[in-house]
Amino acid sequence: MFAWPTNYDSCYTLAGDIIKEGIGLHSGEKTRVRISPFEKEGYFVSFADKPNEVFKLDQNLIGSTMLCTAVKLGKRNLYTIEHLLSSMAGCGLSYIHIEVDGKEIPLLDGSAIQWVREFEGVGIKKAAKPDNFFREINKSIILNKEDSVIAAIPSEKTTIISTINFSYKAIGNQTFVIDLNPKSFVERIAPARTFGFKDQFQELSELGLIKGGSLDNALVCDGDEWVNPPLRFSNEPIRHKILDLIGDLALVGLPKAQILVYKGSHSLNALLASSLKN
Ligand SMILES: [Zn+2]
Repeated sequence: MFAWPTNYDSCYTLAGDIIKEGIGLHSGEKTRVRISPFEKEGYFVSFADKPNEVFKLDQNLIGSTMLCTAVKLGKRNLYTIEHLLSSMAGCGLSYIHIEVDGKEIPLLDGSAIQWVREFEGVGIKKAAKPDNFFREINKSIILNKEDSVIAAIPSEKTTIISTINFSYKAIGNQTFVIDLNPKSFVERIAPARTFGFKDQFQELSELGLIKGGSLDNALVCDGDEWVNPPLRFSNEPIRHKILDLIGDLALVGLPKAQILVYKGSHSLNALLASSLKN
């Protein structure tokens, strides 16, 4: 039986290769990735049609679209990388190479759990000490975007305290607190699916922007209720917000900090990531 570590004292990589196919959110087309252990620290990407051109993922290459996080690699964009990044960082994995056949990372079920199951299937092995996995901070950081706020306070471990506050009754006010490690990430965060709103979903579909979007890869909220229950956790939305935060910090390294977030979003998380990098 596979058991995830209960701390980030070591950094891990995969013990073998994973190949996973799925539908891309934007294109609606099948896309395929191969994830393998790599000799260098970090996350590296190449495209299947140009295997010798290998890019290291870097915070400076990150951009966001209306729908997902994209990364600019040479002349191309690679879309929808956030949940795969979250899966790897949350599980304490680095020294990874990702080969992509297509323009997107498959969305799968809108959570991180299918990636985690693949990692468990192939196994993990120690890569190095985690010195380069964590981001040490020596002073508190507080940043805001309108009324949304994110703060990081130096600590011996990574703890996330996150709150959302929606007027929609189905979501409402949710707070979640987690001492992060691979085991707690896998059990409490990884299964939480992305969520969206019915009117927004219809609008984007009509614009042809989410050809791969369906009730199989997102929880859809219709104000007072969910269109496609059951939920995996009663507070699945706030858990997914934490999943996104971990993905958004993956390229700068998870800070050894208490991270407090109110009304988190990819753009708010990006403010903290840039501030940590500088
Ligand atoms: Zn997400």
